[in-house]
Amino acid sequence: MQIYKIRPHHALCIQFFEGKGYSPEFTENMRNVINILESSDPFVCITENADVICSKCPHNINGVCASEKVPHYDRAVMQNCSLKINSVIKWSELKKSAEKIISCGLENICADCKWFYICKK
Ligand code: SF4
Repeated sequence: MQIYKIRPHHALCIQFFEGKGYSPEFTENMRNVINILESSDPFVCITENADVICSKCPHNINGVCASEKVPHYDRAVMQNCSLKINSVIKWSELKKSAEKIISCGLENICADCKWFYICKK
């Protein structure tokens, strides 16, 4: 059984993905990951480290995200749900938590993200 590592804030990004990203390789991978998550509802492990989406990101430098903002986004998501880092749960459960956070507004989670103009729509 494959378990997909997912960073907390990526559960939000996934809900708004419209084909844009940091590179063609990144967007292709993100599209594939979303297809897998949505079609087979696999188990995911909530991680604060590089995940299955980071794996094809140009900002992933030897397994560490070069962005200083990312740990804040992950922390904000965890503070707004009842999940724990390293928990292994079904994707649908993580998605439900993401949807709940989104319904309360993302302004206090990731408003300074360069992609926020997409998600605030
Ligand atoms: S490496 Fe950083 S910028 Fe790239 S997908 Fe992962 S968290 Fe996002």
